[in-house]
Amino acid sequence: MQRMQHKITLIPGDGIGLEVSLAAKRCIDATGVNIEWVQMSAGQDALDKTGELLPQSVLDSIKENKVALKGPITTPVGTGFRSINVAIRQALDLYACVRPAKSYVGVKSNFKDIDLVIIRENSEDLYAGIEFEEGDLKTLELIHQIEKDTKKKIRSDSGITIKSISKFASERIVRFAFEYALKNNRKKVTCVHKANIMKFTDGLFLKIARQVAQDFQGKIVFEERIVDNMAMQLVQKPHNYDVLVLPNLYGDIISDLCAGLIGGLGIAPGANIGDNAAVFEAVHGSAPKYKGQNKVNPTAMILSGALMLRYIKEDAAALKLERAVKEVIAEGEFVTYDLKASPLDASAVGTEEMADAIIKRIKGK
Ligand code: NAD
Repeated sequence: MQRMQHKITLIPGDGIGLEVSLAAKRCIDATGVNIEWVQMSAGQDALDKTGELLPQSVLDSIKENKVALKGPITTPVGTGFRSINVAIRQALDLYACVRPAKSYVGVKSNFKDIDLVIIRENSEDLYAGIEFEEGDLKTLELIHQIEKDTKKKIRSDSGITIKSISKFASERIVRFAFEYALKNNRKKVTCVHKANIMKFTDGLFLKIARQVAQDFQGKIVFEERIVDNMAMQLVQKPHNYDVLVLPNLYGDIISDLCAGLIGGLGIAPGANIGDNAAVFEAVHGSAPKYKGQNKVNPTAMILSGALMLRYIKEDAAALKLERAVKEVIAEGEFVTYDLKASPLDASAVGTEEMADAIIKRIKGK
């Protein structure tokens, strides 16, 4: 029987992106799924070729194919250059960022048997990119208006970033989290917030979460935690938690914390999901210092590929891929430096060789 063909956009990204996404593509293809990959450039690569960081053709390709696998893209810190990763999520309204944090036997970590899922709101909060630069006339006007309306003082040499949280986006993400919990046999959703300080933004997020939780009463347990307390509790007793739903910024930070709980960014996958498209990418960034060295761990990208296979309903292929990754990591021989007892271990293999070992397992050799 002819297998169903999928057309998927592949954005390799920059830094270590090319290495990890090509390793992931090879592993995904080895499962036997029938994928026609449409390779597109974004980030530095696209800038060099087309003069644009995020050409419209990239967004059009994702819109047409509805699914993309994406490598990390560099965003220089503290310049006017905005994140291409955030721009893609916003342009396609990929409002739910799903980041599972699961322990693997063979990965050194202070914890065993972690099995958490972060559901991060991806469309608003401080990541909406609404900013006013220090010294700009518009910034001074805004400061003046705020002082007039609130009777509170803002220093005139301030820069301002706007945090907005809506009822619409809060309900959409919290409902997504509960439905995800139901579909995936999860027991509990914890809403993470700072509503004690930010009454009108996080307070609204929490209020909506409490309302949505009522629709799932008796099926999924609902809990709430203040984000600073959550950070401490995750480090002290991570097994008490299951699915976490958070506004954008806390979701970003807590995802890295959870990647730390399972042994590092090298094994933390992710998905950005909207109603009309989904983009799968690792939690980690482009780690520019390792670019082109065939050194870093491809697992996070490969496991993002497994999430993608489940999304396109290729569950058997996803299982094959996850099992092969699990076995190669547990065996501990053909793994990258970050998965060895010491990062200086000379027996560590490169990105490509680890992917080769995973492919061998998939093919049963
Ligand atoms: P990073 O995740 O790129 O790297 C931090 C450190 O984590 C690395 O130095 C390395 O030690 C380790 N690491 C990351 N990926 C690894 C892997 N696959 N295997 C082994 N070790 C790995 O974070 P950063 O240095 O803060 O960011 C670098 C750039 O990436 C920045 O420009 C940032 O904006 C961008 N970024 C992009 C994305 C994305 O594309 N979605 C996400 C996060 C950061």
